Amino acid sequence: MHAIALNSPAPLDANPLQWREVDTPSPGIGQLLIKVAACGVCRSNLHMVEGDWVDGGVPAISPIIPGHEVTGTVAALGDAVEGFAVGDRVGVQPLWWTCEECEYCTSGREQLCHRRKITGEHVNGGYAEYMLSNAAHTYHVPESLDLSEAAPLFCPGITAYGAVQKLDLGPGATVAVFGLGGVGHMAVQFAGLAGADVIAVGRSADHLRVAREVGATRVVDATAEDPGEVLAESVDAAITFAPSDAVTEQALKALAWGGTLVAGVPVSVSGFPFNKAQTIKASILGNRTQMNEVLALAAQGKVRSIVDRFSLPNAPEVLGRLAAGKLRSRAVLENRTE
Ligand SMILES: [Zn+2]
Ligand SMILES: [Zn+2]
Repeated sequence: MHAIALNSPAPLDANPLQWREVDTPSPGIGQLLIKVAACGVCRSNLHMVEGDWVDGGVPAISPIIPGHEVTGTVAALGDAVEGFAVGDRVGVQPLWWTCEECEYCTSGREQLCHRRKITGEHVNGGYAEYMLSNAAHTYHVPESLDLSEAAPLFCPGITAYGAVQKLDLGPGATVAVFGLGGVGHMAVQFAGLAGADVIAVGRSADHLRVAREVGATRVVDATAEDPGEVLAESVDAAITFAPSDAVTEQALKALAWGGTLVAGVPVSVSGFPFNKAQTIKASILGNRTQMNEVLALAAQGKVRSIVDRFSLPNAPEVLGRLAAGKLRSRAVLENRTE
């Protein structure tokens, strides 16, 4: 098979990724071989490729095949796999394996398992014609969904859903979503489904247009006005997906007294006041139940991901476009080999 492989992390300009022939893996006990249909291109792929996470032990193997929002069809089954058949349409999210034993795994918070293995970071991922999955973290993709459009449900979708579920949103609540890329445009939809008025805050005209298309009741162009000032202390909740201290500061300025900020990116805050009784929470991914809820909502047509389609060998160029902010929404790499 062919895959995009990373030997050692380096800036994209140094061409650290190669499209090359590698052995097709064979599934072990409890594993599936998936013929990849599509894999979303995530900013965390860029962080790994460029070496930002080397100190954290990522990538854990070398060479490694990146990619963790993957759909495809089952090509082969390892021993002891139940509930899947060759030809089934399936998907894999960043959680590739969890221990099933620790306090997090046994309380429905497996995304916090300290022994978790992340797809495309600890094991080979979906920038390839085939990949292995672990049956316990493999999902059926509903027939009504296009496999390319479904791929981002497995990272932006679950990330946005997990973040929105950390809020107690209901009709009449106002929530501002800061950062409208692949994750943000999904968060706008999940917040809208909860009945909230959704204000989308972003810097790209394309992103703001998409946010309106998917149901934002108001958009704020952060290049034209200061969202912290125009929304001053008016929103019940804010969600941030833009990794910028300036954005966190704007979101906190926008937040009403008693409001909650959910951060889907790192946060550094100074001078956080106690007298406004606000809450800051962080959110990462979601559990398996939530992942299946995301797939069900998509199958019912209640949420959709908007994708830009590319061919798998073009991964380096697509990551370059992501780095330069030149993507309309989520990019997916399609495996177009027969
Ligand atoms: Zn991702
Ligand atoms: Zn665990």
